[in-house]
Amino acid sequence: MIEIDGSEGEGGGQVLRTALALSIVTGRAFRAYNIRARRKNPGLQRQHLAAVRAAREVCGGGVKGDWPGSRELVFGPGPAQPGRYAFDIGSAGSATLVLQTVLYPLWQAGGASEVEIAGGTHNPMAPPFDFIAESFLPWLERAGARVVAGLERPGFYPAGGGRVRAEIRTQAPAGEARAEKLAGVELHARVMLARLPDSVAERELRVLQNALGLRPEHGRIERHEAASPGNVVMVLIRHAHGVELVSVLGEKGRPAEDVAAQAARQARAFLDAGAPVGEYLADQLLLPLALGAGGSFVTGALSGHTRTNMATIALFLGDCIAVEPLAGGRNRVVVRPRG
Ligand code: AMP
Repeated sequence: MIEIDGSEGEGGGQVLRTALALSIVTGRAFRAYNIRARRKNPGLQRQHLAAVRAAREVCGGGVKGDWPGSRELVFGPGPAQPGRYAFDIGSAGSATLVLQTVLYPLWQAGGASEVEIAGGTHNPMAPPFDFIAESFLPWLERAGARVVAGLERPGFYPAGGGRVRAEIRTQAPAGEARAEKLAGVELHARVMLARLPDSVAERELRVLQNALGLRPEHGRIERHEAASPGNVVMVLIRHAHGVELVSVLGEKGRPAEDVAAQAARQARAFLDAGAPVGEYLADQLLLPLALGAGGSFVTGALSGHTRTNMATIALFLGDCIAVEPLAGGRNRVVVRPRG
C-alpha cells in the first residue's frame, strides 16, 4: 500500500488524480491522508469525488472514504477495462480534470474507449477544453495515445452543464518527445462567447490585436449555446514544438478590456520566458511522457504543481524525472519512460 500525505507540496486535487491514474496503471493500492488539508474547503469536494468514482468505474476497483469532505481515501485498483463510459460531475466541476484521470488507465489498457463527461469545460484553476485540445493532446499523440476530443457544449463556471467527448486509442509512440527552443512563433486570438452581446468579444479582440500586434485574420470569435453566460479570452501561441494556449475567463462585472489585457500580458510573459512549454503544460506532461516513450522539454520556473506531481509520480514509478537548471531561470525536465 502506497501512503500519500495529501497536504505535502502543492497539496491540491492533482495529487489525488495522479495517484488514481497511476494506481490503476501499476496495479498498486494507495492510502491518501490529509487530503487537501491546507485548503479553505479541505477534503474531497464534488470535483474530486467525481474523479474517484470515474477511476473506480474504469477499473472495477474498491474505494473507502469517498464522501464529501473526507480527508482520507483508500483505493484498491482493478485492471482498466476499455469501453464506453459516461460520467456526470453534477456541478461545474472540471470535466477536463476527470478526463485526465481516466485517460491514462484507458490508454495503457489498450483497446479503444469512448468517454463522455458532463460538467464544466472552462473553469478557473483547471485546463480549459481548448488547452486540452490544442496544447495537451498533441503531446499525448507523440507519447502513444491517440485521443480525439470534442466539445459538444461548453459549460462555464459556476453553472457548468457542458459536455466533452473523447475517443482514446493506443498507437506506437513517436519516440522520445522533445521541445528545446521557442521558435517559429505565430499568435492567434480566440474569444468564446455565450449569451452575451457580440460587442464584448469585439472589444476583447481589439485589445488583443493592439497589445500583441495581431493581424486581423488571426483573430476569431466563437459563439456558443450554453446553460449560462460565458466568455473566455484565449491566445494560441503556435510554435515549432507545440502550442501554448493562455486563457482568461470573463467575469460578471469585470470590464472586457481588463480580461483581454490580462490574456495579452500572459501571452507576453510566455514569449518573454523564451521556453516552449508553459507552467501549466509542464505539470501535465510528466505523466504522459513517463507512461510513453519518455522525452524532455524546456520550461520556465517550476511550479508547485510540477514539483508535487514529480513527487507523486516517483511514489508509483520510481525516480524517472530529472531537472537540469538552465540559464535565464529556465529548466530542462527530462522524463525517462517507466521500465
Ligand atoms: P489542482 O489545483 O491540484 O486541482 O490542479 C489543477 C490543474 O489544472 C493543474 O494540472 C494545472 O496545470 C491545470 N491548470 C490550471 N489552470 C490552467 C490553465 N489556465 N490552463 C491550463 N491548465 C491549467
